[in-house]
Amino acid sequence: MSDTIFTKIINKEIPADILYEDDMALAFKDINPQAPVHFLVIPKKAIATINDITADDREVVGHLSVVAAKVASDLGVAEQGFRTVMNCNEFGGQTVYHIHLHVLAGKPLGWPPY
Ligand code: IMP
Repeated sequence: MSDTIFTKIINKEIPADILYEDDMALAFKDINPQAPVHFLVIPKKAIATINDITADDREVVGHLSVVAAKVASDLGVAEQGFRTVMNCNEFGGQTVYHIHLHVLAGKPLGWPPY
């Protein structure tokens, strides 16, 4: 797949407000927040969409949720609660084709999300 803006963030070629990083994943604030707390958790491995996840990716994809909960806890929003969302393709509203877990928190969130 071709590089996205998230590859540039992983490679520190463009700035991001990074909240957490390890060898498998990176968490950073969303540039256009949709809630008082809105950050993204991405794998360092470039996977375009949920449809492209394979069995080999189980560990890294599962790790995204571990990181989401850790960062939510660090930011003090885990107990009140938060929402994770991973959009897929056009109808899912995906705009960056490098999978990412949105983490939204800091206010009661409506459901369903439309
Ligand atoms: P999607 O629409 O689910 O693909 O989400 C992409 C998200 O990436 C959007 O919420 C954007 O605001 C966010 N985004 C795009 N470029 C940047 C950036 O450079 N830094 C941080 N967030 C970004």
